[in-house]
Amino acid sequence: MGTRAFEVVVIGGGPAGSRTAALLAERGHRVLVLEKRDRIGYPVRCAEAVGPREDVERYIELDEALISSVVDGFLVASPNGEHYRKEMPGIGFVIDRELFDQRLAEGAARAGADIRTGHQATGLIFENGFVRGVRIKEIASGDEYGVECKAVVGADGVEAHSPRWAGLKRSFRPEEVFSCAQELVEGVPDWSTHIEFHLGRSFAPGGYAWVFPKGEGRANAGVGINPVMTDGRTARDCLETFLSHRCPHAKRSRFVIGGCSVARGLPALATDGYLAVGEAAHQNNPFSGGGIINALEGADMAAEALLEALERGDTSSRSLDPYTKRWNGSVGRTNTAFYRAARLFYSLGDDEMSRIMKSVISIPGVFDDKGIKPSRMILGIIRAEPSLSLKFIKSCLKR
Ligand SMILES: Cc1cc2nc3c(=O)[nH]c(=O)nc-3n(C[C@H](O)[C@H](O)[C@H](O)COP(=O)(O)OP(=O)(O)OC[C@H]3O[C@@H](n4cnc5c(N)ncnc54)[C@H](O)[C@@H]3O)c2cc1C
Repeated sequence: MGTRAFEVVVIGGGPAGSRTAALLAERGHRVLVLEKRDRIGYPVRCAEAVGPREDVERYIELDEALISSVVDGFLVASPNGEHYRKEMPGIGFVIDRELFDQRLAEGAARAGADIRTGHQATGLIFENGFVRGVRIKEIASGDEYGVECKAVVGADGVEAHSPRWAGLKRSFRPEEVFSCAQELVEGVPDWSTHIEFHLGRSFAPGGYAWVFPKGEGRANAGVGINPVMTDGRTARDCLETFLSHRCPHAKRSRFVIGGCSVARGLPALATDGYLAVGEAAHQNNPFSGGGIINALEGADMAAEALLEALERGDTSSRSLDPYTKRWNGSVGRTNTAFYRAARLFYSLGDDEMSRIMKSVISIPGVFDDKGIKPSRMILGIIRAEPSLSLKFIKSCLKR
């Protein structure tokens, strides 16, 4: 296996990898997608919220099978128990993530990409410091082989090794990844069409707990915590505390644990013969950890730059640089603001956070039709607690 000539090898068959592969294959390039899992999209390690419709439908048609429920607003519960509810009809959806990932992969396959599940990238092949291919292991047989190509796309998610192999990043620091635990809870009649965020150190030190309704009395309920801010409790322990508070009698299934990047963006997303995209490239929103649509946006920008580079016959770092520039000048810029807001917000104690929530929620323009505006949120926090402005300035100066 592996002798067919490929121009591009994509590591990872999640949203970022499948979308990039589809865009390249549609333009006639020979693309190989490697996915180490046996089944695309499974198991689901995600709360499955996306939105709004026009953002999602840029990438995939939303039909009934994909939509578990429509989200019409949200509820935030402060640490002191106060609730803030905001109506935002049609702000998003809770989807069937497994089917979503499968549809994206099918799109790539239809466009001509070769998708190999059960195949793990184990390293990159270099020639004079230039990435020239991927070393691969077929997991079932243990067979190893190499594939040479003109460019490698690292779309290997939160557990990605490829950006490190390529020299684009170091390992995550513990506080750069939310440690998450989640279950599907069932049999609770009052799940609304609103997604819920619950704040407070008892459930979610340095992060938040969520309930995202999936219709028919079901919801994804989980926690994402900052592992350096806990008192020794794991995400699973925090989930237990949260569920016994929010829905003690719910039937539970589909327990998952996983990490979710809340790291600052990477200064460079490409090097000679290699690009990173999606969560592998720190493209998640560092406030919420959400990364599905960001991964797809990143894929579009990566594919655009790579298509031009392939046309020029030059996949050097310089030739791929427009990708970094475009990302950092658009979504990356918003993510930097979210990163700053997150550092400030999640470092607050419960009392401070409860006081500040009132101010943040009431500040004009803090929500637009896509959700929270990070700059307005920072303003709300500092208006409520002016003493935090110094802390904020310090955190902006620190990398
Ligand atoms: C508990 C939890 C809840 C979340 N909830 C939401 C949410 O509600 N909304 C939202 O937008 N985001 C959410 N996220 C984040 C979201 O799931 C990710 O940001 C998103 O999946 C990123 O897409 P991706 O394609 O970059 O990576 P992934 O979807 O992780 O895909 C990467 C793929 O690469 C494969 N892979 C890894 N290494 C290799 C290798 N060496 N060789 C071959 N294959 C490899 C993996 O198996 C995986 O399939 C959540 C995350 C967690 C953990």
